[in-house]
Amino acid sequence: MGFFETILKNRKTAVVLGHLNPDGDCVGSCLAVCNYIVDNCPEVDVKVYLDEPADKFAYLRGFDRIHTEVPEQFSAQVCICLDSGDKERLGRFGGFLESAEFSVCVDHHITNTGYGMENRIQPDASSTCEVLFGLMEEEKISRETAECLYTGMVHDTGVFQYSNTSEKTMEIAGKLMAKGIPYSTIISESFYQKTYVQNQILGRALLESVLFCDGQCIFSVIRKKDMDFYGADSRDMDGIVEQLRNTKGVECAIFLYEKQFQEFKVSMRSKNRVDVSKIASYFGGGGHIRAAGCTMNGSIYDVINNLSAHIVKQLKEE
Ligand code: 5GP
Ligand code: MN
Repeated sequence: MGFFETILKNRKTAVVLGHLNPDGDCVGSCLAVCNYIVDNCPEVDVKVYLDEPADKFAYLRGFDRIHTEVPEQFSAQVCICLDSGDKERLGRFGGFLESAEFSVCVDHHITNTGYGMENRIQPDASSTCEVLFGLMEEEKISRETAECLYTGMVHDTGVFQYSNTSEKTMEIAGKLMAKGIPYSTIISESFYQKTYVQNQILGRALLESVLFCDGQCIFSVIRKKDMDFYGADSRDMDGIVEQLRNTKGVECAIFLYEKQFQEFKVSMRSKNRVDVSKIASYFGGGGHIRAAGCTMNGSIYDVINNLSAHIVKQLKEE
């Protein structure tokens, strides 16, 4: 029996949770598990709770049944936490984890401490979706579930480009393609396509970016008033830090956006040398060696100064 079939045996209710500001791997993994359960464990009532996900993922089956409001009561027998490095990242839905009789955590963040009763954490996997593929029975994966898994893998690997992409990643992607998914459309419409506003914000961030540390580092920031001006929110910030990292000669990129006065969401990316997960963890966040994030308070100047001190230290210690 597969992993999910086993944990759901003799149980009637389950919830699936992801992390704050859900990205492609988070939405993909939550809907993959939900679809897999609907298809293969029909006696289980399964619900997905997430922060408002981006519309670009609306093609995934189950997207329209994602709950975004906190329920009056946190009651489910099984709580399945996906792609979330720590409990706090479950945000306002964390109550399900506390009240469930059984919980599991499936993730690929190196900083994950294993807060479920059962944990499947593989830091060398490209994505939570890749870990999930190994927990599902291949012949029971429907085309719709395959679309969810493929979406998560595409997003966390930057279309199979980043260093987290392995031979195994490509093998799994191939098996998912064999399920008949529209892989080109998934890549072009959920990963590369941007709305007009998203392009404007990206342009603005690039235009105002600043190189420092002899061109080895770059940062940019989008302020709250600019987000309001363009009518953009956190879901429109996907891909900006990757484009900053793409600058020739840059090892480490930092992108900030202002959540509220003097509170910034920080995204960091590196190419080959800087361990950004260490820096993000130091400031209360987490992530992966080449992609990590946290939230920091203070002026832009303070935030950049604090982060760059750690980056410079790592670059010097080599
Ligand atoms: P992003 O920069 O795209 O928001 O996140 C990069 C990676 O770091 C993702 O894997 C994400 O889950 C993780 N991450 C981002 N922000 C936080 C945070 O505040 N806490 C933790 N634990 N992980 C984060
Ligand atoms: Mn992920």
